[in-house]
Amino acid sequence: MTAFPARAAAAPLRTFSGIQPSGAPHIGNDLGAIRNYVRLQDEYEAIYCIVDYHALTTVHEGEVLRQRTFEMAASLLALGLDPDRCTLFVQSHRPEHTELAWLLATVTPVSWVERTPSFKEKREARPDDINHALLTYPVLQAADIAMYKASIVPVGGDQSAHLELSREIVRAFNRRYGETFPEPREVHTETPVVMGTDGLRRMSKSIGNTIDILAAPDVIRQQVMSMVTDTQRIKRTDPGRPEVCNVCQLHRFFGEDYLEIQDGERTARTGCVDTKRLLADRIIRHYAPARERYAELTGHPDRVEGILEAGADRLRPIAAATMAEVREKMGLR
Ligand code: ADP
Repeated sequence: MTAFPARAAAAPLRTFSGIQPSGAPHIGNDLGAIRNYVRLQDEYEAIYCIVDYHALTTVHEGEVLRQRTFEMAASLLALGLDPDRCTLFVQSHRPEHTELAWLLATVTPVSWVERTPSFKEKREARPDDINHALLTYPVLQAADIAMYKASIVPVGGDQSAHLELSREIVRAFNRRYGETFPEPREVHTETPVVMGTDGLRRMSKSIGNTIDILAAPDVIRQQVMSMVTDTQRIKRTDPGRPEVCNVCQLHRFFGEDYLEIQDGERTARTGCVDTKRLLADRIIRHYAPARERYAELTGHPDRVEGILEAGADRLRPIAAATMAEVREKMGLR
């Protein structure tokens, strides 16, 4: 787990992170990022954003986006974000983000965004939907962080290249216009990358290889039972290799006895199906309180909307101050 720097005595350090409302939260989001969001609420001034502008690069139906944005807000609150200890808001409720993205784009060479691995991946995965926003996505991400001068960014390992680019962009801005933004530093949990149920690629909403932590127990069970395990273990009596088996690896987060479970696989005392059943039971049990809170929150949409509106309002003066400073430095009248 990454050690967090001590909070400065004078200016409180800010932490910022964003999550796309492009689908239901999955176990990779939680183990890789959301757990740190929750933890950091008590250590820093924490700002969390549901990045609907980013999601527009792949979600093209207005009603779907609106619904998913609401569901992601309810999910984050159910998983432990507390509006008294953090600020939760929707990116498009603070439209200054898109203005700052444009201004930062003017210090960003095209070659920097073209080399981003996520752009290359998306170009291959969705050749018929390569919109311009996919290319400039990391510049908007840099603007999201810079808007609040956040220095700590809790993210999964897949975001490292984007964070490096954010640092380069604020450095380029600071070089041209004078010291303005801190260089953001990413922090990871002990599981920066959770593999998907296919066992091949990172778990991701856009790939659809997820275990959706707040879904109905039947859905979770079916997703866990579909997980690819050790592909070399063909027969029940073959010894397994827990170090390459995603199911065994996930057990580490849902019980103290994971070494015993791994040993069962290694010695073929237990089969993959047994190990998956146990994992499904444990995941369902672990997230049961959050699932209850989620049901409660979705039954009171006004409460969720109120939290999001208050969050965006609370950030208005910070965003206004950043934009005034940036406009002044760049010569905008
Ligand atoms: P997705 O790829 O599922 O759309 P997002 O891009 O919304 O996820 O990511 C939200 C946060 O969750 C980011 O900090 C991201 O790094 C983290 N994250 C996403 N998938 C994983 C994963 N498989 N393992 C670890 N962290 C992840």
